[in-house]
Amino acid sequence: MPGHKMQPLLSLFCSYGKSNFLIDHAGGSRYYSYDVRSTHHDLCPLNIMSQEIKKYSVHDGSSTTPLPVSWEECRQRGWNHLDILLVTGDYYVDHPSFGIALIGRLLESHGYRVAILSQPRFDSPHDFQLFPPPRLFCGITAGNLDSIVANYSSNGHVRNTDAYSPGGMPWRGNIQSRTERRRPDRASLVYTSLARAAFPHVPVVLGGIESSLRRFVHYDYRQDKLRCSFLTDAKADLLVYGMGEKAVAEIAERCARQQPLLGIPGTCQRFTDSELRDVFPDLEIGSSRKFLVLPGWDEIGQKPPLFLDAELALDQHGRSRSARIVLQRQQTHWVVQHPAPQPLSPVELDAVYGLPYSRRPYPAGPEIPAHLMIRDSITIVRGCSGNCSFCAITRHQGPSITSRSKGSIRRECERVTAMEDFSGTISDLGGPTANLFGTSCAIGSCKKHDCLYPKICPNLRINEQAFIDLLDEISGIPGIRHLFISSGLRMEILLQTPRLLEKILRCHLPGSLKIAPEHTDDELLSLMHKEPHDLLQRFVKKCREIGDRLGKKIELTPYIITSHPGSSVARAEQLAIDMENLGLQVKKFQDFTPTPGTLSTAMFVTGLRPDTKKPVNVARNQAERQSERRILEDHFHRRNKVLKCKRRQGR
Ligand code: SF4
Repeated sequence: MPGHKMQPLLSLFCSYGKSNFLIDHAGGSRYYSYDVRSTHHDLCPLNIMSQEIKKYSVHDGSSTTPLPVSWEECRQRGWNHLDILLVTGDYYVDHPSFGIALIGRLLESHGYRVAILSQPRFDSPHDFQLFPPPRLFCGITAGNLDSIVANYSSNGHVRNTDAYSPGGMPWRGNIQSRTERRRPDRASLVYTSLARAAFPHVPVVLGGIESSLRRFVHYDYRQDKLRCSFLTDAKADLLVYGMGEKAVAEIAERCARQQPLLGIPGTCQRFTDSELRDVFPDLEIGSSRKFLVLPGWDEIGQKPPLFLDAELALDQHGRSRSARIVLQRQQTHWVVQHPAPQPLSPVELDAVYGLPYSRRPYPAGPEIPAHLMIRDSITIVRGCSGNCSFCAITRHQGPSITSRSKGSIRRECERVTAMEDFSGTISDLGGPTANLFGTSCAIGSCKKHDCLYPKICPNLRINEQAFIDLLDEISGIPGIRHLFISSGLRMEILLQTPRLLEKILRCHLPGSLKIAPEHTDDELLSLMHKEPHDLLQRFVKKCREIGDRLGKKIELTPYIITSHPGSSVARAEQLAIDMENLGLQVKKFQDFTPTPGTLSTAMFVTGLRPDTKKPVNVARNQAERQSERRILEDHFHRRNKVLKCKRRQGR
């Protein structure tokens, strides 16, 4: 979603990144348009602003040694033990857009001895056993993407590229077998099992996007079936959901003090029936003011529409930032989700991004495509209140918007400009939605937390001047020749901020302006939780007016989703006509991917609309999906090729 920065990584890669990758047949889900910059995060009452982190937040760039990636390196540091081992399915890139770096550096700033085990072999625990058992815990993440999204296209084809692996290659060598992949399918489960084998007495903590969005009963599009929570499947001790800074810091603190890990904000635990009764003696069957009990595994199995009810309840619970404890029975255990911690404050967010990242892959070696994509980009905002049905950013990062301070962003840009290979271009100032930067709620927030749909909420304060000032200030830093906004921008907000829109069109576009209308059919747009087609029409008109005034041709690149629940061949045909009528070329589109943790996936699974619970058309088989895609290909690509060919031949 162009509208979403990090949308992260997939979007990162599929959408903005590769100039020769115009159509995402691979079908990366927008949902994974997370920012590489998103990962885990959020802290509880524990003070994230320890003295150490305060020190680092104003660091001078001199102590940027990456975290150790082998026990030998730990020994070279004079360590005789390890506190925390973090295991990831990605190559280690010491950059704040990569969750493992962000969490690792945060724990390091609290004084813990942290090492990274990156892309271990998964046919035996050997790579884990190269480290001694960590003293506090072993943290597991599949990486910046769900491993199924990383390994398979939306149509189930094995991907032959991996933006998070050396050279973009998903295999270790020339043998393209499943066992030779750098990242296993459902990596969180596989790594947990290996960690258990290697370190039988060490707590295992799951985190990252994969575990976070698979923490309750969820759909797995590779297997085409519902699965139980990864917490119970993996038999891990704890699962950190959402942005995990606060939770992870408290887990480390409690482990260090040998205190129980019960009730940490931002975590899920698993209990047997009797354990549940011991922990919550006041729990009654059914929901209450204190508890939200979701339909369980058996109930959903008997009555599949309850899956949509569970997803809707989770969506509302997350947006309202409810303090209720969420429970869901799996096959033999309960998953209990403790309330989310408060989002990081701007000061805390500044501190996390001010840690001494080297901003490079470690060890240095082959290029990591994801790093090339974002190495000179800066995250300025966290959270998204757009709530698009197909996107899991709100569920993962939360609906509250936190913007970094201008000073902190400036310091990070100065560090980037000081790097010897800086090209002179800051490729992006962004986040899930760049122009939510500086926004706030006039009344503090509400339970709906749906600030942009169906219209911009009158309580949403939009600070146009703050973004303009930021662009001016960063543009003025010596060494910066170009400053771009490549993250997604919400069109409805840009129409409310005409000076910012003009400034971006005039000075800060890396070629074209990426916009995310997603479709042109109003009914389908309502299922996507997006404004009607009229918004795109008004936006295109406004951009052309500005372009005429500036004497500049404004290129707009619309992003489209095909085969979303509610779509059809007839609607795809109308979409092509509508886009042509607006003079827009559709170069970027992707098949809907039913990834875990979105309402669109619940629609896909149940075939029901979330508002009325009435049936909705779902394109399930390849033929249906391909026919929608082919309409756009024929309309905008094959025909263009013919025209170009004719032009070359002078016809
Ligand atoms: S009142 Fe409006 S601006 Fe505030 S959180 Fe709710 S929807 Fe968003």
